[in-house]
Amino acid sequence: MNEKTSASRSFPRRVSDALLDLIFPRECLIFGGALGDTPYRFLSKQGRASLKFIGDDCCPACGAPRAGIVSEHGECVFCRDRKFRFGCSRSLVVFDVYASRLVHAVKYRAAHAAADDFAKIAAESDHFSAYLTGAILVPVPLFTMRENKRGYNQSRIFAEALAKYIPRSRVENLLVRTRDTGTQTHLSAASRRVNVRKAFCVPKKFKERVDPKARYVIIDDVFTTGSTLSECARALKKAGARIVDAATFAHG
Ligand SMILES: [Zn+2]
Repeated sequence: MNEKTSASRSFPRRVSDALLDLIFPRECLIFGGALGDTPYRFLSKQGRASLKFIGDDCCPACGAPRAGIVSEHGECVFCRDRKFRFGCSRSLVVFDVYASRLVHAVKYRAAHAAADDFAKIAAESDHFSAYLTGAILVPVPLFTMRENKRGYNQSRIFAEALAKYIPRSRVENLLVRTRDTGTQTHLSAASRRVNVRKAFCVPKKFKERVDPKARYVIIDDVFTTGSTLSECARALKKAGARIVDAATFAHG
């Protein structure tokens, strides 16, 4: 595992964790029930084993696991007719029923602790860790009102957790969402593209921080159609970034 910081928690932290465990026993976010012997805070070994990791053998554009038909250039069928604004995207695991429980937990329950588990298993994947090494991680922003209501942005928490474990990476919150694009789960791929079109920008005050020589990786929880990530890449490039890729926890 590539850890930038010591994995051992401080004594006061261990004591407070132990007390919390007595009051609110931790459960595996995927299977429920006792965690048992595990290096993770909210993931049992069985939960970790249930995740389907995507390795090197994936679509070179969107990072989907290579299954089914691929086009003559090697992209998956979905990407054959799509042009993304980012160079490429990679995801750690397949978005199935197990991964979705973790993603849901980060959105609505144990956000920080679950994101730390995300980041730990991301760092355990040589392929995914190498992809992020040395990059500036830029979380997909929420619309301010939505973030205020939820209290945090799950992509930002995930990016910050990743930066703890991925060598020479750091987070820069360069993007803002200029309007509320609502939930996109019920929209078709084409409608999503229209819905998020020009919904992001790099505010004037951040533009001088954009380094044309740096590699930026936009971070989100799930890759669905790539529309949101593509629009974020468009905004970063408009502000002067030249190398912009994307990464998500899951690909669905
Ligand atoms: Zn693809």
